[in-house]
Amino acid sequence: MASYRQPCVHCGEFIDRSARLCPRCGRRSPFGFFCPTCLHPVEKGSVVCAGCGRPLYTLCPACGAGTFVEEQCEACGASLMRPCPNPRCGQPQFFENQKCTACGKKLHTGRP
Ligand SMILES: [Zn+2]
Ligand SMILES: [Zn+2]
Ligand SMILES: [Zn+2]
Ligand SMILES: [Zn+2]
Repeated sequence: MASYRQPCVHCGEFIDRSARLCPRCGRRSPFGFFCPTCLHPVEKGSVVCAGCGRPLYTLCPACGAGTFVEEQCEACGASLMRPCPNPRCGQPQFFENQKCTACGKKLHTGRP
């Protein structure tokens, strides 16, 4: 029996629809994009998140180019995620997040 499979939006690999990350490219949210701050589903190309109103494009801290708020910079490929400093959490968080989406701990945003 064929299981329900759907292509990963990042690499195109057909993977199980219940998968929480793509086994081929390792991206989380393989079937769509989510706001990194409030986890509301978002469309690439939208300007702001409908859930929290944050801009969905930002400047990469590594190369300074504009990029969609996904896990990696579209221009240079640098990771835009930082591990939560809470040792019992450690979930990757978007570098601009002010608090952890998993445990709620306040994060330093990397801005002065
Ligand atoms: Zn993939
Ligand atoms: Zn949001
Ligand atoms: Zn970059
Ligand atoms: Zn956390």
